[in-house]
Amino acid sequence: MTATQPAAAAPAAKPRLAFRPLPVPQVDVRGFWGDRVDAVATRTAGILYDRCVEARMLEQIDPDRPSPGVVIPFHSPSPDEAASPTFTGSTVTTQMFWDSDWGKTIETAAYSLYRRRNPELEQKIDAVIDMYEKLQQEDGYLSSWYQRIQPGLRWTNLRDCHELYCAGHLIEGAVAYFQATGKRKLLDVLCRYVDHIASVFGPEPGKKKGYCGHEEIELALVKLARVTGNRKYMDLAKYFIDQRGQQPHYFDEEARARGADPKAYHFKTYEYNQSHKPVREQDKVVGHAVRAMYLYSGMADIATEYGDDTLRVALDRLWDDLMTKSLYVTGGLGPSAHNEGFTSDYDLPNETAYAETCASVGLVFWASRMLGMGPNARYADMMERALYNGSISGLSLDGSLFFYENPLESRGGHHRWKWHRCPCCPPNIGRMVASIGGYFYGLADDALAVHLYGDSTARFEIAGRQVTLVQTSNYPWDGAVAIEVGPEAPVEFTLYLRFPAWCRKAALRVNGKLVDLEAATVDGYAAIRREWRQGDKVELDLEMSMARLFANPQVRQDIGRIALARGPLIYCVEETDNGGGLHRIALSREARLEARKEPNLLGGVVTLSAIGSRAETENWGADLYRPEPPATEEMTLKAVPYFAWDNRDPGEMLVWLREG
Ligand SMILES: [Zn+2]
Repeated sequence: MTATQPAAAAPAAKPRLAFRPLPVPQVDVRGFWGDRVDAVATRTAGILYDRCVEARMLEQIDPDRPSPGVVIPFHSPSPDEAASPTFTGSTVTTQMFWDSDWGKTIETAAYSLYRRRNPELEQKIDAVIDMYEKLQQEDGYLSSWYQRIQPGLRWTNLRDCHELYCAGHLIEGAVAYFQATGKRKLLDVLCRYVDHIASVFGPEPGKKKGYCGHEEIELALVKLARVTGNRKYMDLAKYFIDQRGQQPHYFDEEARARGADPKAYHFKTYEYNQSHKPVREQDKVVGHAVRAMYLYSGMADIATEYGDDTLRVALDRLWDDLMTKSLYVTGGLGPSAHNEGFTSDYDLPNETAYAETCASVGLVFWASRMLGMGPNARYADMMERALYNGSISGLSLDGSLFFYENPLESRGGHHRWKWHRCPCCPPNIGRMVASIGGYFYGLADDALAVHLYGDSTARFEIAGRQVTLVQTSNYPWDGAVAIEVGPEAPVEFTLYLRFPAWCRKAALRVNGKLVDLEAATVDGYAAIRREWRQGDKVELDLEMSMARLFANPQVRQDIGRIALARGPLIYCVEETDNGGGLHRIALSREARLEARKEPNLLGGVVTLSAIGSRAETENWGADLYRPEPPATEEMTLKAVPYFAWDNRDPGEMLVWLREG
């Protein structure tokens, strides 16, 4: 096993307290996340490969077989595009980003192989990697679309065609495969490709001043730089971020060079891909939600690596904007299907919520990277919210079916898919779950931050000493967490422990001695600095507080409604537990909420129940309207964790319950 210590790429200006995630193979998860990872390792990873093959993606990357040609048609042009005299046909098909689906599938497989040996899957992925090696051109260029379907057109449409985005996902897949299996063939292929990209793009005279319309390569280059220690890759990531939105606008010039009218852009505004302004001037979260999350993730990495406060200030502004105006209570984001993204402030429709799985996964990426600049529960709490709710809702409990959209209300017609024509979400949730260990901790020179709790074992090196840290817990069902710190020899460092904002009562003991939390806690993390010795024990007691959540009254869709939460989990009601017509159910403010462990339900969950009421339809008659209100009957409502919905009998679902 090659455990790579990410160190050499750090520039001299790196702030002392830069926290980096532990490589995934250094954290073994059990319990809640163990079950999720097992589902991905045993089912999802193989399914992703099979579906890619069924979609003919293997043919596209295999130089020994004829190209499949255009399997998925080009999108039809928008009316103004069709009317434009310079328009020569649509330029985009989702087939262009098949390389990204491979990249994410390889990444999911990599971490799954680490979890559970699977020689058959490993052999298949090795064969995919061999094809990419063979496909790579002499100069390092590598794109199955541009090499096999549209030769001669490389680097002519960064705005629409996902060329660098695909490179980014292949980089992430290569890094993961190297970390998990020790095999570096794909890593070497991608290093050659990035060397080529760095020879084409950059500030030097004669190079293109472009960047990708779909952000992704930025954060991928940071990973590559950390694994290889090659500073050039980090600088290229920074260049793409610095260059975004500068004038003259690259996408305008690029369109003219293609003989196209820049104004005929399908999405009208560069807000769609966050290139409407230089990134340091941006103050609103706009456009396509996944693109936005990936951009901010890359910005946060660069802010951490270069100690760049100008980026940090912009990121905090953007974070505030998302948190206070545009985030679903589930950690979902991007309400509109039209732009797969943001609309106006406080516009959070529930039934038609787009809330793409990838966007919530992207929020996890962004939040985790904000933690690179230091432990802060403001980010970690939201990472946890998105992890436990709006992202893993995208994967069925058995790991075989997927949501693309994650609405907060359904009349019974919304169900998981086997696959999608634009299959970005399945491998995205797959790789996120399979790499969950990487989100648990942040490691700095003399500190370890515990961002997530859950049964797990982590191994890391700090101040030259190997340390094993074992968490024993039934989190998130129970808030008791026992942490055993086991250094090979006594070593001094600071252990940061998160105290989530949803927790109303908490206690912390170190070797049985109660810690004064008020004095020890900054930004939601208690800092314990001491010389840690073998067998030292930290005990946390986090009350799994239940809560009724209310939305800002400016959210028209949620006024007069409540959402139920317990600890990090958001709850919903389903028809299978509560009967149909969920909109007729109401819950009073006084009704007592009860939590119950149900080990045989949905793989073992805690449900919430309460006495509510339901508006009756039986005696209403045929009138559509009348002056008397409907009669109501008492009922016991039962809520299940939102992430677990649509895993039983199909039916209605509702997060925001009527209060009354
Ligand atoms: Zn997606």
